[in-house]
This record gives sequence, structure tokens and C-alpha cells, in this order.
Amino acid sequence: MTDNATHCWPNSPEQPGPGGRLIVVSGPSGVGKSTVTDALEERGGFYFSISVTTRKARPGEEEGEHYRFVSEERFGEMIRADELLEWAQYNNNFYGTPRRPVLDQIAAGSDVLLEIEVQGAMQVIGAYADAVTIFINPPSIDELIRRLRGRGHMSEETIERRMEIARGEMEIGRQHFDHRVVNDDLERVVGEILGILARSPSN
Ligand code: 5GP
Repeated sequence: MTDNATHCWPNSPEQPGPGGRLIVVSGPSGVGKSTVTDALEERGGFYFSISVTTRKARPGEEEGEHYRFVSEERFGEMIRADELLEWAQYNNNFYGTPRRPVLDQIAAGSDVLLEIEVQGAMQVIGAYADAVTIFINPPSIDELIRRLRGRGHMSEETIERRMEIARGEMEIGRQHFDHRVVNDDLERVVGEILGILARSPSN
């Protein structure tokens, strides 16, 4: 913990002693965030925040495992009740991180990992100065375009728009994140992130 007013965690009576870390993994769409964080999850040792979203479940996604799927009305209630640590609108859907489970896990000493898009990551950076923030870059813009095309269902116009957004996000990554990694090889990048976390101080 830092001893000035910028530290993360409210020092409530229910939260004595050292806490775990809040770890944010973000990056542009198509960079492979979830593949990287799935691999980190397999290594264990983190609590993975389950986001709420207003988008429909995809085949194979389980309620409460991949997301909590909620209505827009419910999502709005969660915003108004200040239940979300961060939230963003992305591709016409809303996504957010429920605050309580994250703070409870940190208070219990667990490291909590959020895999979120860049607008939400910026909210976390603004509110929680002690968060460890890791930005995943593609090996190159061309490679990012290739990956987005590989998803097979986007028009050229959509890809062009995504590229513009990605360039802006990569600039945010350069300016505001603690660490930047390149997703050129899954095993290598996972090893690099684990190395970063091993060197990052606990609260
Ligand atoms: P998808 O719909 O493909 O699961 O996710 C779309 C995007 O939303 C991804 O970039 C993912 O990282 C991001 N995302 C997932 N959960 C959250 C969240 O709780 N907050 C924010 N800000 N972004 C999220």
C-alpha cells in the first residue's frame, strides 16, 4: 500500500491487513486477450472476475461462468446502485465488472484479474492507482487485421473502423498502462505476464 490518498482499497474495518492485487489485462479487439487470460487461468493463482453483460450468450457459454447475462434494465440498475467497478458500451452491448466480489477477494488476499476492453480499463486506472495494468499489443497492425478477418464475419468497413479504434487504443496503452506485452506467441506472452506479476509489489 502506498501511504498517500491514491491507494486503491478502502480501509474499512472489514478489510484489515494486506490485500491482493487488482490486475487488469486489456488491449484492442482481436488481439487475443481472452486466449491469454484463459491460459493464465489454467496456471491458477488468480480470482477471475465474472463480468455482467447485456449481450446474448454464445453457444457454449454458461451463465455465471463466462458472464452473468443480464437485461439492459438490470444493467442500468447496477450502474445507478454503484454496483459496478467499471463499465463500458462495446458493440452495442454493455459490459461491467461487479464491484463487491472483486473487493471481497482482494480483501481476502487474492489477486483478482480483470479481462476488459480499454475504456473500462481507463476507468480502473483512474480510480485504483495501485492496479497492475497490462496492455496486450498485436505483433503488428497487419497481424491484427489478419486476425479480425479470420473471424470471418466482418465487412471491410467494419474492419477499417476497428483498426482506427485499435490504433487509438494502442496509443492509450503506450501512455497509461504500467506494462505492454506483445501477443506473438501464447506460451511466451503468458510467461512474460507471469514474470511481470512476480515482480509487481503486493498491496
Ligand atoms: P465478448 O463479447 O467478445 O465476450 O467481449 C467483448 C469485449 O468486452 C472484449 O474486449 C472483452 O475484454 C470486453 N469485456 C468483457 N467483460 C468486460 C467488462 O466487465 N468490462 C469491460 N469494460 N469490458 C469487458
